[in-house]
Amino acid sequence: MIIFMGPAGAGKSVQGNLLAKELGYIWVSTGDYLRSHLTEERKKQMSAGNLISDTEIIDIMSKCFEETQTQNGIIVDGFPRTIDQAKWLVQQHKKGNIRIKAVIEMEVSEDVAKDRLLGRGRDDDKEEVIKKRRIDYEKITRPIINWFNEQNITVYTIDADGTIDEVHQDISKKIGE
Ligand code: AMP
Repeated sequence: MIIFMGPAGAGKSVQGNLLAKELGYIWVSTGDYLRSHLTEERKKQMSAGNLISDTEIIDIMSKCFEETQTQNGIIVDGFPRTIDQAKWLVQQHKKGNIRIKAVIEMEVSEDVAKDRLLGRGRDDDKEEVIKKRRIDYEKITRPIINWFNEQNITVYTIDADGTIDEVHQDISKKIGE
């Protein structure tokens, strides 16, 4: 399993898909999964940029990991997003239920991310919501990276401001090392 982390607009889905194709892995996006499985009411909560609860997402992801248990690896985009989600995931790794091969941390400047997101125009890609998601990322999700390091999980940090091709080459090189 390879985990993609980074703020909205870093290009996690684009790069995750490219790498999945290259390695023959399955690509799993928690955001996409939730958008296609949740009720309208819950989707409104998501559109406002609010995270759904740890218990609910962990429940969903454990089913998802069971379903995608194949010989191929998986690329996960959008999970974990909180320390408690990360603790659960590393516990699964230590128990041998999953194997975390590496974490790709994508760093993107706020301006580049904003341009990409406004160009995409999803429901939660409005300036106010973009700001909130970035603040939440810095506060809630980024600290997971240090914690992964302490747990001896391999983390590669990538400059994600470049073109799709440049960033892909960089990721591909790091993973191949
Ligand atoms: P994304 O497509 O990854 O930007 O996710 C869109 C929305 O899905 C987020 O703003 C959250 O509401 C929800 N979501 C996705 N992944 C998670 C997660 N790991 N924990 C909680 N909420 C999540």
